Amino acid sequence: MDFKFSEKEERLREEIRRFARVELAGRNTIAGMEEESSDEDWEFAMSMSRRLAQKGWLTMAWPKEYGGQGASFFEQHVYVDEASYWGIPGTSMGVSGIGWVGLSLMLFGSDEQKKKYIPLIASGDPDGVWCTAYSEPNAGSDFANIQTRAVKSGDEYILNGQKIWTSCAHRARWCWMAVRTDANVKKKQHGISLMIVDMKSPGITIKPILNYAGVHIFNEFFLDNVRVPVTNLVGTENRGWYHLMQSLAFERHSMAPQFFGSARRILEYIVKYVRETSYNGKPLASDPVIRNKIAERAIELDTLKLFGYEITWKMSRGVIPVYEAARNKAYCDFFMQRLATTGTEIIGAYSQVDMTSRWSRILGLITRLYLMFPGLSIAAGTDEVQKNIIGQFKLGLPRAY
Ligand SMILES: Cc1cc2nc3c(=O)[nH]c(=O)nc-3n(C[C@H](O)[C@H](O)[C@H](O)COP(=O)(O)OP(=O)(O)OC[C@H]3O[C@@H](n4cnc5c(N)ncnc54)[C@H](O)[C@@H]3O)c2cc1C
Repeated sequence: MDFKFSEKEERLREEIRRFARVELAGRNTIAGMEEESSDEDWEFAMSMSRRLAQKGWLTMAWPKEYGGQGASFFEQHVYVDEASYWGIPGTSMGVSGIGWVGLSLMLFGSDEQKKKYIPLIASGDPDGVWCTAYSEPNAGSDFANIQTRAVKSGDEYILNGQKIWTSCAHRARWCWMAVRTDANVKKKQHGISLMIVDMKSPGITIKPILNYAGVHIFNEFFLDNVRVPVTNLVGTENRGWYHLMQSLAFERHSMAPQFFGSARRILEYIVKYVRETSYNGKPLASDPVIRNKIAERAIELDTLKLFGYEITWKMSRGVIPVYEAARNKAYCDFFMQRLATTGTEIIGAYSQVDMTSRWSRILGLITRLYLMFPGLSIAAGTDEVQKNIIGQFKLGLPRAY
């Protein structure tokens, strides 16, 4: 075991730092799902995606034949951590494509799908932006309850139904969708299939849902006789549940290095703030309660770092992490909530102002995290769902479904 990155990896980190300082030129960037909200932020994010692709970073660990660089998983880990630290927009292009669609297609896509879609994602082009439609009004944690029907008719499927909470549907060119291809099954996990849906297809209606911060991330998604070529079926018909469990592991795994990078930056800012801010004539940094709280968050940040390294190490050895991905997701949820709460307690009433206000502190990062963490802990499966997976795969408890 070696707890040091190689010289090559450290050089990469330094290069990303230089890139961020120049390209972001001191602007307070919005990275992550909020970049999907305003046209201006989205345009900037997409221009950065192309720049990142040109630098060879966007999908660096993907094989060269698919537009990657064949870099190691650890190089990619360094890139995601450092890019998240700086809040470089455009690193995830609506999350789905880079986070799990490309990797899933490499595992169970057809040759035609691999050739058509994976290099498009790697190019950083807007035509490589995806959304993911799993959730429905009656299928969230109980994902297997999906009702959106796909009925085969000649060389097409005809889709009818409704999806909800579909992040980035208003920006995406393609959708990674779970549908029901067989309704006469004893177990609802059977009869589910995975399909690629062209977002320009007639019969699709997207309606925005604004979150409580007024940000447009997710949408309602209606399908009315939408025609999908049978060649867009991914993997085996009616075996989608098993493919989707794999995709969800990729999704949950992709969160740890990202959250680690942004949390690392927030904790550094909090430390700087308590050093520079006084209360009743004394620096906040000399208050034992505040010191204790920050030290607790530092321990948790280190834990998240090691959890992330473990998965990257396993992936570099060809192991697909299922329990570990659920554990990291559950831990991120818990840690981000505690970090947001500690930050709010330290900056006090300044946490209550709009992020763009001159009264805002720490670039509005604490306020933003406080507003986002409940949603982050629900997206990609709630903590309770992650704990059910941990019970099954780590502790050998009976299935929860
Ligand atoms: C920011 C954000 C982005 C999202 N983006 C997408 C997207 O792009 N695509 C998409 O398809 N979906 C997306 N979602 C939806 C998300 O996947 C669902 O909200 C999530 O799976 C929970 O489903 P639900 O909201 O129906 O809650 P429910 O499943 O109704 O859960 C309600 C509560 O009950 C608990 N619960 C339910 N079942 C169990 C159980 N068996 N054991 C213990 N506790 C249980 C849950 O943990 C939760 O606390 C997004 C959500 C958010 C917040």
